Amino acid sequence: MADSARPLHFTTRAVTSGRPPAVPDAPLNTPLVLTSTYGSFGELEYGRYGNPTWTAFEDALGDLEGGTCVSFGSGMAAIGAVLDLVPTGGVVVAPRHSYTGTVGRLKDLEARGAVVPVWVDITDTDEVVAAAAGAALVWLESPTNPALELADIPAIVRGAHAAGALVVVDNTFATPLLQRPLEHGADLVVHAVTKYLAGHSDLLMGAVVTGDPALAAKVTGSRTLGGAIPSAFEAFLALRGLRTLAVRLERAQATAQRLVQRLEGYPGVLETRYPGFGAIISIVVADAEAADALVRATRLWRAATSLGGVESTLERRRRWAAEAPTIPEGLVRLSVGLEDADDLWDDLAQAIA
Ligand SMILES: *Cc1c(COP(=O)(O)O)cnc(C)c1O
Repeated sequence: MADSARPLHFTTRAVTSGRPPAVPDAPLNTPLVLTSTYGSFGELEYGRYGNPTWTAFEDALGDLEGGTCVSFGSGMAAIGAVLDLVPTGGVVVAPRHSYTGTVGRLKDLEARGAVVPVWVDITDTDEVVAAAAGAALVWLESPTNPALELADIPAIVRGAHAAGALVVVDNTFATPLLQRPLEHGADLVVHAVTKYLAGHSDLLMGAVVTGDPALAAKVTGSRTLGGAIPSAFEAFLALRGLRTLAVRLERAQATAQRLVQRLEGYPGVLETRYPGFGAIISIVVADAEAADALVRATRLWRAATSLGGVESTLERRRRWAAEAPTIPEGLVRLSVGLEDADDLWDDLAQAIA
C-alpha cells in the first residue's frame, strides 16, 4: 500500500484492513469458509480453533482498535471470556448503569461466589479509582447503555493500573472510529459486534481486543474451550458491515445531532441525554405510560430492542425487569439510523405529541 510516512486514516483502514494479499487473481474479499475441520499438520486443525473468515474480521477490527482481536458468537460471549480472566473470588469494579447483560452476568457469578462485583458511578473517577484498590478488573462502558454517562478512561486507567487492576472498556456505543481505549492504556476492549460494527440488525457477534499477547492467548483459550465461537457466515457479514462503518456512523451521528437540537426543550421532553458523539440519544418523558405511548405511536422508528442498525429503533428501557432501578421509568433510548433526518423528526414529534 502507500509507502508515505503518514499512517492511513481509520476511515480508510475500515475499508482496507483484513483483505487477502493484493496479488493477481486473489479475491478482494476473504471467502466464506464453511468447514468443521482442516487437513492435519497446519495451524488451524479444527473449526473451533480458528477459521479464515473469522481471521479476516479479526484482522480488520484488531487494526482499528490497535490490538489482537478474538471474535465470539455474541457480545455476551466476549464479555464472559473477559470475566473468565478474573481469579475465583476476585473483585470486579463495574458501572451501576452498564448493559443489563453485563450486570446480570456479574450477579450470576457473584451468586456462585466466583466474583465480587463492586458497583460504582463511572462518572466519579475518584470513586472508581478508590474501588480499584485490591480489585482484579475494572469494567468500563463509555458511553453507558442507556444512561449515556462517560468515564474518564485515561484517568481511571492510571489509577487502576497503580492499584494493580486490569481495565476493560465495552466500546460498543463509540466504536473504534470515535474512541480507541487501548490508546488510553486500557488492557482490553469488548464489542457487541451485533450493533454498529455489523450495523444491519442481521446477526449477533462479539469481540475482545487486547494489546497484551498473554491476555490474547487466555481469551483465545477461553473461546476454544468454552466453545462460544462465531459462525463463519456471521463473521463474513460483520466484516461486510464494517466496511461501511465510517459513512454509516458519520451520517447517523449528524442526524442524531440535528435531532438533539430539536429535542432539547421540546414540549413533553423532560430531559435529552446525548454525550456529544455517536448516534444514541436517550430522552426522558413524564412517566412509563407516556413513554410506552410514544414508542407505540411511531411509524418510521421501529419499536425494538438492540441498536446500531441502519434502521432507527427506539425502546423504553425500564420495560425490562433487569434494567437498573435508577434509570427513569420514562427513559426512551433512540438508536438513530440512516433515514432522512426530517422524516425521523416528523415521526418523533407526532409520537411525542
Ligand atoms: C448489546 C450489547 C452487548 C451484548 O451483545 P450481544 O451481541 O447482544 O450479546 C454488550 N454491551 C453493550 C453495550 C451492548 O449494547
